[in-house]
Amino acid sequence: MSLPEAFTERLEKIVPHERFAAVLKTFDAPKQVTFRVNTLKSTPSELEAELSQGGIAFERVEWMEGVYRIAPEDKLRLTQTEAFYGGRLYIQNLSSMIAPVLLAPRPEETVLDLAAAPGGKTLILAGMMQNTGWLSAVEPSRERFFRLCDNLKQQGVTNAHTYMTDGRSVGKKCPEMFDRILLDAPCSSEARFKTYDEKSTSFWSVHKVKETSKLQRRLLLSAFDALKPGGKLLYSTCSFSPEENESPLQHLLERHGERLKTLPLVLPFDNVQKPLERWGKEVYDERIQNAVRILPTDTIDGFFICLLEKTS
Ligand code: SAM
Repeated sequence: MSLPEAFTERLEKIVPHERFAAVLKTFDAPKQVTFRVNTLKSTPSELEAELSQGGIAFERVEWMEGVYRIAPEDKLRLTQTEAFYGGRLYIQNLSSMIAPVLLAPRPEETVLDLAAAPGGKTLILAGMMQNTGWLSAVEPSRERFFRLCDNLKQQGVTNAHTYMTDGRSVGKKCPEMFDRILLDAPCSSEARFKTYDEKSTSFWSVHKVKETSKLQRRLLLSAFDALKPGGKLLYSTCSFSPEENESPLQHLLERHGERLKTLPLVLPFDNVQKPLERWGKEVYDERIQNAVRILPTDTIDGFFICLLEKTS
């Protein structure tokens, strides 16, 4: 099976010419499996000892403590370990781990995860907060909401308060309430496309991308309203489309630019590119240049991240 033609044509205009072929290839094979220790239940050394005793061969990811990789064919065995059932480890792509780490919530803070299910990033936020403070997790889809609740329980999170509601309403209900907000927005999931899985692309169209962009804009405005002055907001998607990344940020800056700055991001690998300066008729605010588009590799999923701060 091949990727939708409209998608590859657009992707060619988005990623740097010299990287396009390598990026395209990443859609053809499963990624290496990565997982991390759940610091609410274990430590890196305890988990390493437990897995080694169980005969699981893993490699450390050098640039993030407590994070490991295994070959895709070993994933099944990992999911049969007691550490997995006991919630002492969590399988997650590296891109997804980076977003909450860059938001860097601290113990005792008030934190909001505005599009939370199934909760992979909420779990990291709770770990960084050491199960203290107040962590609100919002998810409107009923089925996904219950998956989120199960995950939080299984992984020992006790500081989270879960809400089955639409994130677009949160800003008005909770004005300037949160120190940090993660908006890992619903998106067209282009970075999850696989040429060997027809279902992964079946809902995609340029029209869908544009529709999703409208939802992302409204969620970003809601997040801005809910953020305390001096607070930080991290916006991320697993889409390549500028309509879902640069454009919603542009929309936010056009409305509230005088109260926002973007913060530079330093990532520990070089498969990154700067955001686009323009797309179609849109010319983007130069502050968006502080965001980062992560290009996919055989281990890392494609991702887009922007960190913003609300000025006082
Ligand atoms: N952060 C999650 C994680 O790491 O496990 C993944 C979040 S996923 C990219 C986006 C989520 O947003 C989906 O669970 C989707 O159901 C939810 N969503 C869709 N519409 C929403 C809305 N209006 N408000 C809040 N969340 C929404």
